[in-house]
Amino acid sequence: MAMASPIVSAEPKHDKLRQLGIIALNGMFDEMDAEGVLRQAVDDLLPGDIAMVSSFGADSAVLLHLVSQVDPNLPVYFLETGKHFAETLDYVQTLKSRLGLANVIALHPDSADLKRFDPDGVLWETDPDSCCHIRKTEPLEKVLAGFGGWVTGRKRFQTAERGVLPHFELTSDDRIKVNPLAYFSNEDIEAYKARYDLPDHPLYQEGYKSIGCAPCTSAVADGEDPRAGRWRGLNKQECGIHFDFNGSIAKPVSQSQLTLFKDGEFKADPWRSWAEGDEASSVRYTHVPVSVFIEHREAFLASPHPIGLQVDPGEKVEEVADDLSRFSSVAINFPAFGDGRGYSSARLLRERYGYEGELRAIGDVLTDQIPFMRRCGINAFVVTNIATRKAIEADALAEVRLYYQPVGASREVPVGTRPFLRRNANYT
Ligand code: SF4
Repeated sequence: MAMASPIVSAEPKHDKLRQLGIIALNGMFDEMDAEGVLRQAVDDLLPGDIAMVSSFGADSAVLLHLVSQVDPNLPVYFLETGKHFAETLDYVQTLKSRLGLANVIALHPDSADLKRFDPDGVLWETDPDSCCHIRKTEPLEKVLAGFGGWVTGRKRFQTAERGVLPHFELTSDDRIKVNPLAYFSNEDIEAYKARYDLPDHPLYQEGYKSIGCAPCTSAVADGEDPRAGRWRGLNKQECGIHFDFNGSIAKPVSQSQLTLFKDGEFKADPWRSWAEGDEASSVRYTHVPVSVFIEHREAFLASPHPIGLQVDPGEKVEEVADDLSRFSSVAINFPAFGDGRGYSSARLLRERYGYEGELRAIGDVLTDQIPFMRRCGINAFVVTNIATRKAIEADALAEVRLYYQPVGASREVPVGTRPFLRRNANYT
């Protein structure tokens, strides 16, 4: 697998005549409706030489319905990344039979690539661009090499980057991308679905307005950008298969922007904080304050999505002790250096309740605190303080050898005749 190569080279090398042809096409079909654009592409421009790529996501039914009207035998490629919601896989079958699509083909990632680069299936968490590359871009690139063009469901309203999307694009390897829905608004989509009584994706009514792989998709709040739930919290908006459009592509978050320090390195952080407007039944990878969890306990327990707990000073972990196994991560807030309540919460979680998941410190995490935090069982740190970050990067965290309070989470021995004075067993 060539990890660094996108689907096409970065430098456009268009055939000038084809470029002019595309400009003319866009001029001629600028006002054509979506079905007309699709017919032009399938019947006249690239007969037998064009395919469609569909995510079978929130609004895929519209373009798939158009395809069923124009040519139900058109090859429709579905990127079966291995990371989809079960609901998406069901939806593929629903639309296939409902619309009479005769040529839906699942594309799978190369098993050798998966074994080599993502053996544990968690690459999405640490390096989503590479994950998309293995699971989407490469399988698609192989199959699209056999076509002169492909049809996408992208629309102008979806993101700022797509705001100037034309009906026809020339890729830098001289293939044609056709975007029949480029000018559709959200209202047009809804009206079309209603007009033809098209079924919604099962997650749509739960706030999933743009749906991709399960680990990288979350519901959006009212008024939020429909794609805001994709790769939430990461500097990534596109999966990589549309790298070719206007050069505005997803960039990996640089190492210096990563703030989660865990297992000896700074890494990508899939977690976010609970926000106003969030729904208990649909949030994913969200740290939920203790009070919010208690208020919506039933919904959180019923939800299938990974959630975490946020413990602010004064909140009692004892109140959620019976539900700790529900949390994949617990974030303890240390808002000020002099506030030691977080240490007590960490010890309670580890020592009294035996919590074994990720325990992270958030807030004003300072270099001098980290050894004490570790001693209480904290194993991840969200570091925004520049001096602390520098100390970590220089491997210069403070070394504390003597402690006045024993803890159960560390191996320690009493020092001399003063049993309350402890020394890390590693230094004896
Ligand atoms: S969307 Fe997420 S899980 Fe799917 S391929 Fe991309 S990074 Fe991987």
